[in-house]
Amino acid sequence: MRKIAIYGKGGIGKSTTTQNTVAGLAEMGNRVMVVGCDPKADSTRLLLGGLQQKTVLDTLREEGEDVDLDDILKVGFKDTRCTESGGPEPGVGCAGRGIITSINLLEQLGAYQEDKKLDYVFYDVLGDVVCGGFAMPIRDGKAEEIYIVCSGEMMAMYAANNICKGIVKYADAGTVRLGGLICNSRKVDNEREMIEELAKRLGTQMIHFMPRENQVQRAEIHRKTVIDYSPEHAQADEYRALAKKIHENEMFVVPKPLSINELEKLLIDFGIAN
Ligand code: ADP
Ligand code: MG
Repeated sequence: MRKIAIYGKGGIGKSTTTQNTVAGLAEMGNRVMVVGCDPKADSTRLLLGGLQQKTVLDTLREEGEDVDLDDILKVGFKDTRCTESGGPEPGVGCAGRGIITSINLLEQLGAYQEDKKLDYVFYDVLGDVVCGGFAMPIRDGKAEEIYIVCSGEMMAMYAANNICKGIVKYADAGTVRLGGLICNSRKVDNEREMIEELAKRLGTQMIHFMPRENQVQRAEIHRKTVIDYSPEHAQADEYRALAKKIHENEMFVVPKPLSINELEKLLIDFGIAN
């Protein structure tokens, strides 16, 4: 079973990209579980057709310790398994705790056991690596393979670099490796070349350049992935292409984060500051 975590700045497109890519992997015949690790709990709604999934934390709060796997794991598009860890009210407590509690509970209830025949588990993780909780999936080998969603916008690149610092911290003691950057285009000038160069300097690859495309929003309004909503659309093929590249990926590295000066120089060299 491959254990993958998707990181990246808030709003960059982690949940959208994760679910669309998972749809692509599921279409290829893989059995996939998605664990939403964001208090927003919107990591699985496109796979579940908008079904409001009760989060693990809410379920625990309302039903106590007596929870069955069916209570927290719903079946979505092409047999994908979907769960949302949930979190505290905004501003109250550590959101990372929800992730820790959820993964432990899923393990206890056997969600990862061999009889479930999972090919992949995906963790869709909130924002930056800002505290131990958010890094939870990459601690103790819960996730071994990281993809960072970014774009040519400065803050997205800055976050990607920071996440690399987090990976380095846990890579020494564990098995976590970076599998690549996914450029989710914001139509910035020279974006493809700039992210390819950022990837190269980090010692990794830009595994895919995902075009910005309104069809993503059209599908989202209908609470579906693009692959589900419009399987013939070119954007569906983009997600299938990313799914295939992840499936066939063999480049796993401990990244080499850049200094702020190097990062800023990259932006200047590629013309944003001109
Ligand atoms: P995150 O999970 O990183 O916070 P989301 O996946 O929720 O971000 O994406 C934020 C918004 O960006 C969503 O409304 C989504 O429809 C949109 N979006 C993401 N990727 C694309 C894309 N390739 N083209 C167009 N819109 C996109
Ligand atoms: Mg999200």
